Order: sequence, then structure tokens, then C-alpha cells
Amino acid sequence: MKLAELFNEERTVFSFEVFPPKRDHDIETIYDTLDELHHLNPDFISVTYGASGSLADNSTCEIASAIKHRYGIESAAHLTCVNSTREEVTEVLRRLHENEIENILALRGDIVPDVPRKNDFKHASDLITFIKDTDYDFGISGACYPEGHQDSRSHVDDILNLKKKVDAGAEHLISQLFFDNNLFYDFVEKARIAGINVPIEAGIMPVVNKKQIERMVSLCGASLPSKFTKMMSRYEHKPEAMRDAGIAYAVNQIVDLVSQGVDGIHLYTMNNPYIAKRISESVKSLF
Ligand code: FAD
Repeated sequence: MKLAELFNEERTVFSFEVFPPKRDHDIETIYDTLDELHHLNPDFISVTYGASGSLADNSTCEIASAIKHRYGIESAAHLTCVNSTREEVTEVLRRLHENEIENILALRGDIVPDVPRKNDFKHASDLITFIKDTDYDFGISGACYPEGHQDSRSHVDDILNLKKKVDAGAEHLISQLFFDNNLFYDFVEKARIAGINVPIEAGIMPVVNKKQIERMVSLCGASLPSKFTKMMSRYEHKPEAMRDAGIAYAVNQIVDLVSQGVDGIHLYTMNNPYIAKRISESVKSLF
């Protein structure tokens, strides 16, 4: 099933994101995680793609295929393009199609100094146009940024570029994590004014420790409301309290978003079924 078909006015979509285990970890560890996550009945699970875009690493396809065929849950494979050639992307598309994966989250990928950039794709919209020109019939999603993407000159510019991505064929958007719901509402309002009418899921990342959040914030630049920083300072040396407060913060964000009629909630599970379970159990009657 194409992800866009999951969205209708009567219900809010609830989805998860997982990542393939790091190279020095056994791939089987992800199946322990999925054994637990699938009991929480998400509408779909997406699987991230390595920043290097290496063809040798087939783990995203393998895991997305297992989610669909072994666990019976719809899946989406992330695919980045900035570090890949057209031939490499064609090969990944062939593998995804061969594994009957129907959905791709099409991304530019981060530009990282230690990975030489290739020149076939500049933006996610180029990848989307490329996929649309093939004979495959993938459902295509894209990323969006409630606080603007770090490379963009302004929020307005970023929203106009997002419109290009949707016009190229993205049928559904998943947002970058954020901790202030008002920023998300403001972004959605501007996106709608710009004529972006596809479903926009809110990306929620539960905080489990201060180090994790500092790393995420340095990567994506999300701003931290004062009630959030106060929580981190108060509990930074009490791991259990920090975990519980982080779960409660995420649950509060979700309750507010669902009450305001958000299209969907995309939970960044960080491959942690315990946290996903606690959050899902707290909010399951809302979906
Ligand atoms: P783009 O849409 O190409 O945007 C990048 C910049 O270019 C923005 O500033 C935008 O305003 C501008 N722009 C976009 N289109 C145009 C255009 N047509 N003309 C001019 N300017 C334009 N990274 C990974 O490596 N692997 C993953 O699995 C992964 N999953 C992610 C999932 C989500 C939900 C999100 C939000 C991010 C994810 N990322 C992942 C990170 C992502 O790759 C980076 O944020 C990257 O820097 C931008 O990717 P993008 O697809 O949004 O890029």
C-alpha cells in the first residue's frame, strides 16, 4: 500500500522510524527490536539509509522487506541521492522493487566532508523526478523542516523549495524533529498557504539523555523551549528520571498535536522498543 492512502480525515496516522544496526553490530539485533515494535501496530515503519549511499550496504532494503513480509506492516525505505550516481540509484530502485517495497522516502542526504559528493543529483526533488521517470510505481515521501533546513537562506525559501519537492511528486511529508509544537503549527500553516496540500506527519523524538539531544540539536539545529532545557538540567544526572521526563514530554507533544488535528505522528524510535512501547501505550486511544 502507498503511504498516502493511509491518510484520511477520520484518523491520525501513527508511524515509526528505525535505523539499520551500525556496521560493527549484528544485523539480527534489528529483528529483536522489530519483534517488539510490531506488537504496537504502527501504520508503517520507515528504515533510514546510510549517509554514504554505498551499494554494498543493502541493509535498508533487507529490513524494509522484513517489516513488510515477516511482520506484515507497511514499510518505507529511505533513499539519499547526493552521494550516488544515477546508475547506483537505479540499482537500489531495482532491489527495492524486487523486494516488493512500495514506498520510498526520497532525500538529498547530508553533505559530509569525508564522503566525496557525486554530481548527478543536487536536491531531493531531482531524485523524485528521476524515480518518477522510471517504470516503477513507488509511493514517494519527502522530508520537511518546521524550523527551516540549515542550508536554506530563509524559511520562505525553504517552503518554496518544499513546494518544488511536492510538485515533483512527493505525496506525503515527514518532519524533522522539533520540541516546540507552535513552530510546527506555524510551518504547516505557511506550507498550506504555499499550496502544499499533501499530508504532513510530525516527527517526534523522545529524549532519553542529555548527550543524545545535544548531538541531535547540533545536527539539525532544533530549538529548545525553556521548559525543555529546565527538564534536561534538572534530570541530567538521574538517567531514569530523565528517561521518564523525556517520555512524558513526547506524550504531551503528541496529545497536543493530535488534538489540533495533525495528519500523523512519526516516532523516531531510536531502535528502543521500551520507549516506543511506553509512548504508544500512553497515546494509543488517540489514534
Ligand atoms: P532537499 O529537499 O534537497 O533540501 C536541502 C536544501 O536544499 C534545503 O535548504 C532546501 O531548501 C534546498 N532545496 C531543496 N530543493 C531545492 C530546489 N529544487 N532548488 C533549490 N534549492 C532546493 N539522512 C540520511 O542520510 N539518511 C536518512 O535515512 C535520513 N532520513 C531522514 C528522515 C527525515 C524525516 C528527515 C527530516 C531527514 C532525514 N535525513 C536522512 C537527513 C536529510 O538527508 C538531511 O536533512 C539533508 O540535509 C536534506 O535532505 P532533504 O531531502 O530534505 O534535502
